[in-house]
Amino acid sequence: MTVFRDLGSLLQWRGRLQGSLAFVPTMGNLHAGHLSLVRLAQTRAEEVLVSIYVNPLQFGPEEDFASYPRTLDADLRLLDEIGCQHVFVPTDTLLYPQGLARQTLVQPPAHLSKVLCGAHRPGHFTGVATVVLKLLHLIEPQILILGEKDYQQYRIIQQMLNDLHCKVQLLLAPTQRDVDGLALSSRNVRLRPEERRIAPSLAAALAELAQLDPDSAPGPAALAMEERLTQTGLQVDYLELRDSETLQLLPRPRSGARWFGAARLGSVRLIDNRVIP
Ligand code: AMP
Repeated sequence: MTVFRDLGSLLQWRGRLQGSLAFVPTMGNLHAGHLSLVRLAQTRAEEVLVSIYVNPLQFGPEEDFASYPRTLDADLRLLDEIGCQHVFVPTDTLLYPQGLARQTLVQPPAHLSKVLCGAHRPGHFTGVATVVLKLLHLIEPQILILGEKDYQQYRIIQQMLNDLHCKVQLLLAPTQRDVDGLALSSRNVRLRPEERRIAPSLAAALAELAQLDPDSAPGPAALAMEERLTQTGLQVDYLELRDSETLQLLPRPRSGARWFGAARLGSVRLIDNRVIP
């Protein structure tokens, strides 16, 4: 396995590469969700590159950048075990040589980036879009793979690729869950045992809302569900039914639309979503 830590070695390898390349960006602390993206990448391209980088630009000042779990050695072992040959581990100075404040930013459109998580995390999706575009320019993959767990992120990057004429094929990999339904997430390691028992109730709530009768109004159902979740100890940021493409709020459930949820549990913010079958 080759771990690229500087630009020279990455670009030299990229320049010599003959076959197709699939790219999987991550922030590390890898779990089975990430590995499913890598496995999908391996079926779609001759070469796979995974990046591991906790991007400071996408964290707000009150957020968990400092405490985000960093487990590089274990991550590299896991990637090696599943036959991933190439890993890019950039430093802050490699990606932001002028510092964050002097970085040119990619501002995604407000209708996608200021709703849902964007309403609770100002600047978050600007940070995500900026770092993904930078990584794409350095790595020049034919295929980019993102996870459905962060569906809003997927939709924003899809729009960015389209709007900025990026010639990369974007694939969406399905959400991997624990046996009790909790979406796998790097932040789950920070849940205390008692919180871990409560955490699957967000996924259960979204699954239940996704079964709602097509004639029923989503607002009251979401409100009733929020009360139930609050009683179990979750602090709900949002539970909303939206169109999967435009991310607009919908007056009625319909097939292909999506329930989105985010809730805080202790120091951890859980997010999840469910498409209506
Ligand atoms: P992160 O390291 O959290 O930035 O995630 C890196 C990539 O893995 C993103 O495209 C995520 O959507 C994806 N991902 C994270 N958790 C899961 C999961 N449970 N199932 C599928 N994909 C995931």
